[in-house]
Amino acid sequence: MNPSVQPEPLHTALLIDGQLVAGEGAAESVLDPSDGSCLALVAEASPSQVQAAIAAAAQAFPTWARTTPQQRASRLLAIANCIEAQADRLARIEALNCGKPLHLARQDDLTACVDVFRFFAGAVRCQTGQLSGEYVPGYTSMVRRDPIGVVASIAPWNYPLMMAAWKLAPALAAGNTVVFKPSEHTPLSILALAPELAELLPAGVLNIVCGAGDGVGGQLVSDPRVRMVSLTGDIVTGQKVLQAAARTLKRTHLELGGKAPVIVCDDADIDAVVEGIRTYGYYNAGQDCTAACRVYAQAGIHDRLVEELGAAVASLRYASKRDEDNDLGPLISARQRDRVASFVQRALSQPHIERVTGAAAHSGPGFFYQPTLLAGCRQQDEIVQREVFGPVVTVTRFDEPGQALAWANESEYGLASSVWTRDLDKALQLAARLEYGCTWINSHFMLASEMPHGGLKRSGYGKDLSSDSLQDYSVVRHIMARQREVLN
Ligand code: NAD
Repeated sequence: MNPSVQPEPLHTALLIDGQLVAGEGAAESVLDPSDGSCLALVAEASPSQVQAAIAAAAQAFPTWARTTPQQRASRLLAIANCIEAQADRLARIEALNCGKPLHLARQDDLTACVDVFRFFAGAVRCQTGQLSGEYVPGYTSMVRRDPIGVVASIAPWNYPLMMAAWKLAPALAAGNTVVFKPSEHTPLSILALAPELAELLPAGVLNIVCGAGDGVGGQLVSDPRVRMVSLTGDIVTGQKVLQAAARTLKRTHLELGGKAPVIVCDDADIDAVVEGIRTYGYYNAGQDCTAACRVYAQAGIHDRLVEELGAAVASLRYASKRDEDNDLGPLISARQRDRVASFVQRALSQPHIERVTGAAAHSGPGFFYQPTLLAGCRQQDEIVQREVFGPVVTVTRFDEPGQALAWANESEYGLASSVWTRDLDKALQLAARLEYGCTWINSHFMLASEMPHGGLKRSGYGKDLSSDSLQDYSVVRHIMARQREVLN
């Protein structure tokens, strides 16, 4: 256990129809990734409990859907205030369950959760849209934006509470009711908040069920009463969800993996590049779908960048007993650590790939993997093409920006990217042509609640954050009224 994190009384009850209830399914061990110890046993929702959660959400929907934006906003603001008031406690639980450095969980994840609920409380009250009017003589048309119904939200393990906020805030703000399933690895922070959520929302508006993806998750996706599935997860999971959802023609919102290209031109500010990749290639131990992990460095800056970045990455701190001395934590599980290790092992079996630093699991307890930098990588290498989801960054040399652009786009992923250059014309032209949901210029990783986040290609579709997300969680309807002539 991270010694800086005081043990907390952990909640394991599910939230179904306003009641906190023990799961009646199989008990899952939830581990502390910093030492592999068992933090809690969380019993999954049984099939009948999943049914009950969906039924409660379906029953609560008509009343919740008819509340005004102001009424829903006041509930979201109350949730934001509650998270803010309990941020220290929730951050400790998040740090325990994910192995994240506590100071980062507190400063980044919790702050973002509060802001996301506050943003959607405001955004839902000032939506804009098409004008009402007479588009056919004698008829008045108006456009409504209405909620969809019961939404099943299925979250990953990398930012458990933040992903919950990204999913719950827009879905509830738009007037939907939700059945939320956290990752089986990281249910503890949302379960810790469940008693307060039960007080702050009417019964059935939000239900929380735990369990495995293909069991509880599969049941949610198949149920005909669920009208939309929102998933953040792996591409393969997205494909399975899409296939299952097709049977009942559900709406889907898929935020899948990423493999962010980082194009570093000769004229870039090398200190900023080194600091940016050191921070955002390894943040959250690289378990981030936007991680700055696929560097393309122009020939003139390449050698210096590899040397300076190698030294910077080697200085990253982890597995220290003092929380504030850690820049990153462990991977979420032994399986994920071994998966990362096997990617690196296969990469280093290629003679052209050079280990600059790292490339081994940490020898002490926990699921740590050394921050790793690999140079000499080529475009077709597996390590350049596939998402590793660990603290591993590759560097590939290029000659002309056009070549880097082509390589960056030659990927099945399309979530995030960045361009580093002092030439604004070059930056804007590259940004315009990168086939990614987001491109940062001389930066990476920054998000704002007001701005849309989501992918292209196999990174999925649908937007998180921003008022675009409110649109994804609602449907446009046309109301057309025939006019009887009463005035001359
Ligand atoms: P995962 O796909 O294994 O699991 C995600 C969630 O889906 C979990 O709750 C899991 O239980 C559930 N699930 C698994 N199989 C299911 C099924 N058949 N039916 C219904 N639900 C199912 O992903 P993970 O390992 O938890 O998270 C890592 C992945 O998430 C990475 O690929 C990462 O890039 C991606 N991710 C994407 C974004 C984004 O914004 N695009 C953000 C964070 C993570």
